[in-house]
Amino acid sequence: MKTETSDETRLREDICRFGRSLFERGLTPGSSGNISVRLDDGWLVTPTNASLGFLDPAKLSRLDQQGRLVSGDAPTKEVPLHTALYDTRGGARAIVHLHSTHSVALSMLPEIDPRAALPPMTAYYLMKCGATALVPYYRPGDPAVADAIRGLAGKYSSVLLANHGPVVAGDTLEAAVFATEELEETAKLYLLLRGMNPRYLTPEQVKDLVKAFGVTLPEHGH
Ligand SMILES: [Zn+2]
Repeated sequence: MKTETSDETRLREDICRFGRSLFERGLTPGSSGNISVRLDDGWLVTPTNASLGFLDPAKLSRLDQQGRLVSGDAPTKEVPLHTALYDTRGGARAIVHLHSTHSVALSMLPEIDPRAALPPMTAYYLMKCGATALVPYYRPGDPAVADAIRGLAGKYSSVLLANHGPVVAGDTLEAAVFATEELEETAKLYLLLRGMNPRYLTPEQVKDLVKAFGVTLPEHGH
């Protein structure tokens, strides 16, 4: 077996540290949720039936470029969600998937636009998440969910799986975690304000953010 680089050692520790932080704040219960990080020759992924709160750096699943297990415990059954997003977003280095309550609640509302699951509520939501796509409900393990993510053609770094939870990609693990948190908090704001006719950001304010911070929004986004 290849010896582990110091980069990989650090990434293993980071996955466990961020996982514990997400779990301890109630952002994904029980053994739900999973995290992956891209390496130069494969991926590190959290194992199947593992709670994000109690991960062991030495037991993380290490996969090769073809997704075969090289070392560690068996990977999460939700690996296809991750590979579908990596395959379509070349720059993605890390992916976080949670069963976070407010995002799951949002995914069940009848008015949700599948190409913009949230309105432009705050500057940070736009800066960290851009727009969020909603894909329909699929039974866990159904390969069609990966096809649905591929169908978005990499235009979205944040995707909400209906009646299930968010899948968010980032340039770094920290960026993916922070974007997932931003999505969850924005979903919470949306639910708090639903039916109260809140003022969202105007098209001019969105345009200004796009210009000032280089925010990329898919064509059907805001
Ligand atoms: Zn899940």
